[in-house]
Amino acid sequence: MDHNLPPLIRDVPVAGLRGLLEGLGAAPYRGDQLAGWLYARDAAAWDEMTDLPADLREILAARWDLDGLTVRDRQVSQDGTRKHLFSLRDGHAIESVTIPMEQHLTFCISSQVGCAMACSFCATARGGLVRNLGAGEIVEQVLRLRRDAALETVPGCADRAFNLVFMGMGEPLDNFDALAQAIDTFTSPAGLGMSPRRITVSTSGHPAGMRRLLDLPQGVGLTVSVNGTDPALRRRLMPVPGRTPLPEVLDLAQEYARRRQRRVTIAYVLIDAVNDGDPEAAALAKLVRGRPFKVNLIPMNRIDERFGPPDAARLLGFQDVLRRAGVEAYIRISGGDDIAAACGQLREKHAGKDR
Ligand code: SF4
Repeated sequence: MDHNLPPLIRDVPVAGLRGLLEGLGAAPYRGDQLAGWLYARDAAAWDEMTDLPADLREILAARWDLDGLTVRDRQVSQDGTRKHLFSLRDGHAIESVTIPMEQHLTFCISSQVGCAMACSFCATARGGLVRNLGAGEIVEQVLRLRRDAALETVPGCADRAFNLVFMGMGEPLDNFDALAQAIDTFTSPAGLGMSPRRITVSTSGHPAGMRRLLDLPQGVGLTVSVNGTDPALRRRLMPVPGRTPLPEVLDLAQEYARRRQRRVTIAYVLIDAVNDGDPEAAALAKLVRGRPFKVNLIPMNRIDERFGPPDAARLLGFQDVLRRAGVEAYIRISGGDDIAAACGQLREKHAGKDR
């Protein structure tokens, strides 16, 4: 982060706004008003906050930035998926995606610039980890996508209610403190007032982070990316040194499901001729059967010549092996193929122009 930049006002925890305003000599209730402008009314400028005294607005504007994101690119897919590329104040770029579902929208948001997890099928991994996002930058993605959906209704989507998935750029559990604060803002009544049930954190298997997630007061959902059951294949696909063995990660996921009373999703990105055979499906079934899990099968978005999605018959064949073994398995098409909606692809398209 550029230390010459003022902090973002949304980096301040919602519960800290009263104290912050008191520290500036204002009455504590001004903190509630400010929270209203930041989250419910989503003010685009300090001057919009007309029920705050002008001199207080001036002090706030001199010390904090209201916005950390600017729209650098916006693409709309034929299937309604919308992808935003946002520039951060230090010039880096992140992606956030709006996915229309039948009854609601799903906002897929980023937690880091780049990612240290080095998954070989992922465009985000290519530049490594650049930096963590701050809580304010995480929260602002959601506000921007919400604003976008309000300005232009997503066709075919009955409702503007949204779910959140931390499935964009980055390993969210590798940026735990900012993640936890963002979740707090999303779920606080004075923040976005969301039910934790509408929020899902997706991890590549980060045991320390999973344990900390269990300690959060908010029972958010958990998705664990498996992508390969054979240790050598998993190492090849997700080559982080010292990665915790999968059985241990799944035991933790089971513990999460038990304590949260909420099933955990196992995500399996299917890659043609790499991890999509019947033996791999049978091995996956053996690992997850009888546990409080469901499996989402995701045909990968092609990012280069080496890795592509299996054909539809193979996809159904893989699902069939799981189902016959008694495992609940669904095929999830990530959508937005025509706009490079896979995580990291739009940023890559702009690479060279980004820092
Ligand atoms: S798939 Fe997710 S965890 Fe893996 S490198 Fe990409 S962003 Fe990181």
